[in-house]
Amino acid sequence: MCNSFNKKFIDEAAKNMNENNIEKVPSTKNHQYFMQEAVNEAVKGMTANEGGPFGCVIVKDGKIVGRGNNKVTSTNDPTAHAEVTAIRNACKNLNSFQLEDCIIYTSCEPCPMCLGAIYWARPNKVYYGSNQEDAANIGFDDQFIYDEINLGYDKRAIPFEQCERETALQPFKMWQSKSDKTEY
Ligand SMILES: [Zn+2]
Repeated sequence: MCNSFNKKFIDEAAKNMNENNIEKVPSTKNHQYFMQEAVNEAVKGMTANEGGPFGCVIVKDGKIVGRGNNKVTSTNDPTAHAEVTAIRNACKNLNSFQLEDCIIYTSCEPCPMCLGAIYWARPNKVYYGSNQEDAANIGFDDQFIYDEINLGYDKRAIPFEQCERETALQPFKMWQSKSDKTEY
């Protein structure tokens, strides 16, 4: 699907591992502090009726560089999950489309959408507080999305069907020969 990205990402991850044999793991005190901050975002957002009980902070060099909470219902944005809003905030603050050397603390294990967003943003590590099962217990079940991924396109609850491939390939051809593109 995106081999150049995957290869670059894996190469860089391998390089980082070689260069830093000792993983930069924050002290337990920092874990407690940053997870509490993520939880505070969840509580603050939920109390203000911005959305569901989810919060996230993004840390770089021991400092919080981005914050987010779920804002789905208040902004009519189904993609406004805590991790996505925190990634957008951190990237804006860092003036970068990558979360290089960043650590994500999220109050709950990321859903498949946020998992994808996290991979695109490329932080170093993710710490999550509550897990998928805890979320399902209060009515936020994302297991069905994981299940859908493995189904055939015609078997999915929302069917996927390809059409007009040749037309859709035009921008890809243009991208390949574009000389001033920003690769990522
Ligand atoms: Zn999510």
